[in-house]
Amino acid sequence: MTDASGLREDLVERVRFFASLAPLAIPRAAMPQRVRVEHKAAVSRQSKPGGLEDVRSTIGDCQRCKLARGRRNIVFGQGDPRARLMFVGEAPGADEDEQGLAFVGLAGQLLTRIIEAIGLTREDVFIANIIKCRPPQNRNPEPDEILSCQGFLEQQIDAIGPLVIVALGKFAGQWLLKTAQPISKLRGRLAAYRGIQVMPTYHPAYLLRNPGAKKEVWEDMKVVRDLLAR
Ligand code: URA
Repeated sequence: MTDASGLREDLVERVRFFASLAPLAIPRAAMPQRVRVEHKAAVSRQSKPGGLEDVRSTIGDCQRCKLARGRRNIVFGQGDPRARLMFVGEAPGADEDEQGLAFVGLAGQLLTRIIEAIGLTREDVFIANIIKCRPPQNRNPEPDEILSCQGFLEQQIDAIGPLVIVALGKFAGQWLLKTAQPISKLRGRLAAYRGIQVMPTYHPAYLLRNPGAKKEVWEDMKVVRDLLAR
């Protein structure tokens, strides 16, 4: 590929990405082709010890921390139990608490478009959070709440065995990489969590407030797309 055609391709992709994050009607033909995800297809999807269903049943009607008192639903996370790509966010918000599903509010809708921009759907990936219950008034998770809940995320990651994890925002990035560095330092640098590649990037809620940061997220997602294509 010549430099000029590489640049052109990059520009076209960039335009598609931004267009896909905006509520514009883009002709279908201009959207990226869906990437076929090679799952561990031969593996039975039936429940196995240590599988996601076991993790969910261990959580039960969790009363392990103070968030239990104010929650409506435990938000376990959802998606393909054999996903090669996993997204980890912070904590459920009001919409997630109401529906019992991760990333279904405004930030979730933006996440859907980010996923689709790399040719995948929400059903191809697994989406979870560091903590499973909504903090009151959407405040930040507190250390005791993270400590009570983190084992479940560890078990979910073990059960799914993704190739890549995208850490959405500061809490996910810091927790996965066991660091106190700010997300502005972490983002865009591939790192590892127990041998799994981790791409920290900005949280979709941050993008809603700072749309100018979408270009960095696109750079990060291109790296993720290329890792999945290998
Ligand atoms: N923000 C998160 O971090 N997680 C959700 O599920 C929703 C919003």
